[in-house]
Amino acid sequence: MNEKEVCIIGCGPAGASAAIYLKRYGMEPVVFEKDLIGGKTNYTEKIENYPGYLGVKGPELGLQIAQQLKNLDIKPIYSEINGVYQNADGTFSVTYGKEERTFPYVLLANGLADRPYHVPGEETFKRKGISTCAVCDGPFYKGKDVLVIGSGNAAFEEACYLCSICHSVTLVARREEFRAQEEAVERFRAFENSRILAPYQCIACRGTDSLEAVTVKNSKTGEEMELAVQGMFVYVGSIPVTGFLQIPGVADERGFLKADPTTMKTQVQNLYAIGDCRNTPLRQITMAVADGSLAATQIHYDYLHSRKK
Ligand SMILES: Cc1cc2nc3c(=O)[nH]c(=O)nc-3n(C[C@H](O)[C@H](O)[C@H](O)COP(=O)(O)OP(=O)(O)OC[C@H]3O[C@@H](n4cnc5c(N)ncnc54)[C@H](O)[C@@H]3O)c2cc1C
Repeated sequence: MNEKEVCIIGCGPAGASAAIYLKRYGMEPVVFEKDLIGGKTNYTEKIENYPGYLGVKGPELGLQIAQQLKNLDIKPIYSEINGVYQNADGTFSVTYGKEERTFPYVLLANGLADRPYHVPGEETFKRKGISTCAVCDGPFYKGKDVLVIGSGNAAFEEACYLCSICHSVTLVARREEFRAQEEAVERFRAFENSRILAPYQCIACRGTDSLEAVTVKNSKTGEEMELAVQGMFVYVGSIPVTGFLQIPGVADERGFLKADPTTMKTQVQNLYAIGDCRNTPLRQITMAVADGSLAATQIHYDYLHSRKK
């Protein structure tokens, strides 16, 4: 085992930031990524609140992050980590595919998974009309009528993007008070082809080969309406994923990883958690990159301290 190696699980903004800082501290980050470098940024049409980037396209930011890692000679391992175990000597074994490696430090930066919406027909029409990524699938619905489910920033911002390509965009929100920032709501309302149905819920999806219509129900009056739509984009939030973590006591009762907000240390020595998967008050890119740099600084400190002993 190489004493300087740090296993980073996930290479979104949090994991990438940690990798960059660790490399520059002279440590050896070993990055595992099951999907795309840049994480969730790849599934965001435009990012308008990251300083220094004037409305950068999400996938473009992902590519820039990948290039930055390449420039630092950090070569991600494109695999899904399916097990993290602690050994008797305090080191960690991580498993992926049929491989297993041991590391002195593990940094959990695995983000969150999409929360399922649980509407009848959701499974049947997944990728046949139902999507969780407007930036990936939006262009297939050019000139068509689509629905967006959700009331947070992601729902409103992606709905704005869809307004620019679709014939009409109806946003269906469970409550009348939205979680999104006012600015995003107003931007959506300003589109002529936008419409908000609140408080409504989608209760059924119908179609033959692909989605053709949905039934929505007013949560106050119980009134039902059938809407002809060819696409439905679901943004109802995210949930933590901890199944691979075979170490007890690290997650809180909701599944978010408990870590000190200044050191990113969990209660297990040499195990750190950063970004969206952490019990953080704000899940944004700025927070993720800050967490990554703090964790890297702490790991470097912990490494130097361990050598002094
Ligand atoms: C639609 C949408 C729009 C958004 N818009 C904005 C915005 O405008 N501004 C903003 O600041 N934030 C925005 N966010 C939030 C922002 O994207 C996240 O806060 C940020 O990406 C979190 O970074 P992260 O590195 O913690 O997690 P993620 O970006 O989710 O990255 C985690 C990575 O870990 C990988 N991974 C997970 N499990 C494993 C495993 N077992 N093995 C290997 N790899 C694994 C995943 O594939 C992923 O690449 C948006 C989010 C969404 C969904």
